[in-house]
Amino acid sequence: MEKEHVSEEKEVVTKNFIEQIIDKDIAEGKCKKVITRFPPEPNGYLHIGHAKSILLNSGLAEKYNGQFNLRFDDTNPTKEKTEFVKSIEDDVQWIGGKFDDRVFFASNYFEQMYEAAVTLIKKGKAYVCDLNADEIREYRGTLTEPGKNSPYRDRSVEENLALFEQMKNGEFADGTKVLRAKIDMASPNINMRDPILYRVARMTHHNTGDKWCIYPMYDFAHPIEDAIEGVTHSICTLEFEDHRPLYDWVVTELGYENPPKQIEFAKLYLTNVITGKRYIKKLVEEGIVDGWDDPRLVSIAALRRRGFTPESIRKFMELCGVSKSNSSVDYAMLEYCIREDLKMKNDRVMAVLDPIKLIIDNYPEGEIEYLDVQNNQENEELGTRKVPFGRELYIDREDFMIEPPKKYFRLYPGNEVRLMHAYFVKCIDYKTDENGNVIEVHCTYDKETRSGSGFTGRKVKGTIHWVECTTAVPVEVRNYENIVNEELGVYNEDGSLNLNPNSLTVLKNCFVEPYLKGAKALDRFQFVRHGYFCVDSKDSREDKLVFNRIVSLKSSYKPNK
Ligand code: ATP
Ligand code: MG
Repeated sequence: MEKEHVSEEKEVVTKNFIEQIIDKDIAEGKCKKVITRFPPEPNGYLHIGHAKSILLNSGLAEKYNGQFNLRFDDTNPTKEKTEFVKSIEDDVQWIGGKFDDRVFFASNYFEQMYEAAVTLIKKGKAYVCDLNADEIREYRGTLTEPGKNSPYRDRSVEENLALFEQMKNGEFADGTKVLRAKIDMASPNINMRDPILYRVARMTHHNTGDKWCIYPMYDFAHPIEDAIEGVTHSICTLEFEDHRPLYDWVVTELGYENPPKQIEFAKLYLTNVITGKRYIKKLVEEGIVDGWDDPRLVSIAALRRRGFTPESIRKFMELCGVSKSNSSVDYAMLEYCIREDLKMKNDRVMAVLDPIKLIIDNYPEGEIEYLDVQNNQENEELGTRKVPFGRELYIDREDFMIEPPKKYFRLYPGNEVRLMHAYFVKCIDYKTDENGNVIEVHCTYDKETRSGSGFTGRKVKGTIHWVECTTAVPVEVRNYENIVNEELGVYNEDGSLNLNPNSLTVLKNCFVEPYLKGAKALDRFQFVRHGYFCVDSKDSREDKLVFNRIVSLKSSYKPNK
């Protein structure tokens, strides 16, 4: 449900157009228990667009106290692979689609689909046609011209029954005969011009093996699958709108009681991402991305690996709403959702990504003290930790400048700043290498200024983060940017992708607090002043942690509330 803020006191809850249809069906007694489904083809990994469909379908079932099925639409054996079945199940579960044990396969209904075809033949509503693919296309007509009847359209029921059985028994070569619905070759809707229901194709199916050499077409199979499962609202994307009359024809001619109803909604498109399978495949093959779960992609596997939470994706879908017209959603909105979700949930720790040394000349050599630090200043429940502090620290290179511009409040010669959770330090000197790069910053500290001591003697304008050198944990950090930028153009003139050369930056020389030692795959942290990070599930090792940046801390994006 989308919430619309009318005034500060009054919140009106509006229902989306699908909920309005369901309400009406319930009110008219046409629907007792709402049953929805998510029907993926097991031919690839799921992406953020599928997440929308999953959450929409499963969300409706939940809202109306109904039922949500996961059904593999495996009627096209050439492209399907069993390996995808497991990954899809995992992804649907992870995102929060509640199918429990209701996992179904369209291929389990092949027998019923065959029987349904026989029923249509017996009713004189389907016939076996010997035209080849080119001829069928030619006979179909165009958007402006009606089609012509096939010369085989008037075969008798007996002949059709016999031929269809022979098709099933493997007596005809692939592509030589099809079963077609007998509807109307002059229909303004081309989908209704005697569409093909079954084709002869010798393909080994991942589930039924070589049992069948005829396979049903999507438009015939899908309504039957829905009807068998008692699906009440069969929700699909807009490109199927013109197929709805055929969907209705199939369920009506087959006489299903309480037939399912097809409802179309607009696909989710996200800016600055790549979802086309063809393009992703190429990126994988060329080694530009590290597999389908590369954190720059938006497959569910990639989003998981990057560190997105299911909650953030659900929040995102809520903000997107459900619509009947296509549009794209700003990637920044997804980033907003993950920031909002992680803000209170994760520990805020210090990490130095581009280290230089800061040495406190007046701090006792060899001494380490432990500071008590709150894990999340906005959420006390996350507790506290001990952070070691000593004479030598790492700080980020950008927090020191020899010649600062105006309004630079961090370290520079003569300036005093607060070391986060610790003391004031004042820069008294620095060292550079032969190229002029700063390698050491020397400071003195004021013992009286320890955080939490109540010191009010004077103020400083800047606070910088740090990590104590002798206890620091060396880690690798991977910063990501969008892989393409729509403002610069997603494609080059030759049709290839115009890739952002900075989509991945690997920082191999980073340091984090010892608190992060032992962090496990997918553990998330806020690195203060840098962003939210997640332990990589593929490349991180106990002795060499690898962190993915989920999202930086800042954005210009403001939700439209
Ligand atoms: P793709 O080619 O992008 O992988 P698909 O439509 O071929 O998508 P299917 O496995 O056929 O993938 O889709 C399963 C379900 O997901 C369908 O109901 C489809 O309408 C829905 N779906 C696919 N892409 C999107 C999207 N971008 N937004 C919303 N729903 C989508
Ligand atoms: Mg598809």
